[in-house]
Amino acid sequence: MVGEKTEWESPLYQMVVRQFNKAVERMKLDPGIVERLRYPQRSLIVTFPVKMDNGQVEIFEGYRVQHTLSMPTKGGIRYHQEVTLGEITALAMLMTWKCALIGLPFSGAKGGVRCNPEQLSMAELERLTRRYTAEITSMIGPDSDIPAPDISTNEQVMAWMMDTYSQQKGHAVPEVVTGKPVSIGGSLGRYEATGRGVVYVITEAAKLLGMNLNGARAVIQGFGNVGSITAKQLAKMGCKVIAVSDIKGGLYNPKGLDVKDLINYVKQNQFLKGYPQAEPITHEELFELPCDILVPAALSNQITEKNALKINCRLLAEGADGPSTLEADQILRDKGVLILPDILCNAGGVIVSYFEWVQDLQNYFWTLKQINNRLRRILTRAFRNVYERSHREKTNMRMAALMIGIGRVVEAKRVRGLYP
Ligand code: NAD
Repeated sequence: MVGEKTEWESPLYQMVVRQFNKAVERMKLDPGIVERLRYPQRSLIVTFPVKMDNGQVEIFEGYRVQHTLSMPTKGGIRYHQEVTLGEITALAMLMTWKCALIGLPFSGAKGGVRCNPEQLSMAELERLTRRYTAEITSMIGPDSDIPAPDISTNEQVMAWMMDTYSQQKGHAVPEVVTGKPVSIGGSLGRYEATGRGVVYVITEAAKLLGMNLNGARAVIQGFGNVGSITAKQLAKMGCKVIAVSDIKGGLYNPKGLDVKDLINYVKQNQFLKGYPQAEPITHEELFELPCDILVPAALSNQITEKNALKINCRLLAEGADGPSTLEADQILRDKGVLILPDILCNAGGVIVSYFEWVQDLQNYFWTLKQINNRLRRILTRAFRNVYERSHREKTNMRMAALMIGIGRVVEAKRVRGLYP
C-alpha cells in the first residue's frame, strides 16, 4: 500500500494532486485507475560526480520520473537549485494530462538535476549533462521515454544528451531527445514553439473576450525561451509589451518595450538588468501592473493567495508549468480573469517536440510553414474542445482541460487492463 508520507511529497505535487482530485470528483471514473494515477509509476534518483574546472569533484543529485507508462513517455529536463523528486513528479503528472489533452501518443515524464546553472561553466555544464545522461540511459530511449529542454536546458544540452546516448548505443540516435539543433535532426520551429503556441491560444481567447490584441498591454514574467518568444510574438500581433522580468528583476516601460532590442540585449548581457530604455521594477510590482494579458513564464507557484488579489489583468496565460495555486485560481476567477491553463496554453512545445520525433523516425523533414500551420490547427482545436467542455460542464477552463486529459488517460488504462 502506498503510505501517507511518500518520498515524492512536495508543495507542487500536493497542488497537482488537488487539481486532479477536483477534476475527478465530477467524473464517473474507475476508482482503482484514479487512485493509480495519483502516484508516479517509475522514478529514478541518481547521484553522480562531476569534475569541476578547479579540479575538485562535486556530487550532484538528479531524477527521472515517468508518471504513467500507458504510452511512451515524454518530458523536459530541468536544471535548477530547487529541483527535487517531488517537484519533478508533479511536473511529470502535468505532462501526462497535457499530452492526453492534446491527443499526443505520450504519457508524461520529467527529469532534472539540482544545481545552480548560473555558476557552471560551459565545460562543467557539458560534463554534468553527459554524466547525468549516462546515469539515466537505462530509463530513456526513442521508444520509451524522450527528454526535451526545460528551465536552463537548451538545444546544446539536448545535443550533448543525444551524443552521450548515441555513443553508448554505437550509432546516432537523434530521436532519443527533442529540442535539439536542426543540424542533428532537430525540427524547424521547435525553439519558438512554446511561445508561439502561447500566442495562438491567447489569440483564440481574445476572440472570445472581444479583446483587440492590437494595442493590448502585456506583462511577462520570465524572459527565457518561453517568455522571450511569447513577448516577440505578442509584439508582432501589435500588443504593447509593457513589462518583462527575469531572475534578477523586472523592466517596465508604459509605452511598450522594443522586444527585439531586448532579446539582443540579453544575448549580450545575459540578463535584463541595466537595459536603458525602461525603468527597473521588482518581481512583486510586475504582477501588480494593470494590463490586459499577464503571462507567467518562469517558475511554478508564482501566483498564490498572497498576490492574486493585486493582479490586474483580463487574461492570464500560463506559459510556465503550475504557476498558479488553486486558491489564486478562485480569487482571479472571482475578479473576472479568464485563465488559460498551463496544460493547454504551453502545449506548443510538446506538440512540436512530437513533430520532431515523428520527423526523426521517418527521416523526412517538414517545412516551417507546415510545422506552424499544424501547430496552430492542433492548439486551436484543443482550445475549442476545452472551451466547449467548460461550457457544457459549467466549469472553468482548467477543470475542463484536466477532465479531457484525465478522461483519455483513464480510458487508455482501462482498455489495456490490469497486468497480471
Ligand atoms: P528558461 O530557462 O529558458 O527561462 C526561464 C526564465 O525565467 C529566465 O529568464 C529566468 O531568468 C527567469 N526566472 C527564473 N526565476 C525567476 C523569478 N523568480 N522571477 C522572474 N523570472 C525568473 O526556461 P523556459 O524553457 O522558458 O521555461 C519557462 C517555464 O515554461 C517553465 O515553467 C517550464 O516548465 C515551462 N515550459 C517550457 C517549455 C519549453 O519548451 N521550454 C514548454 C512548456 C512549458
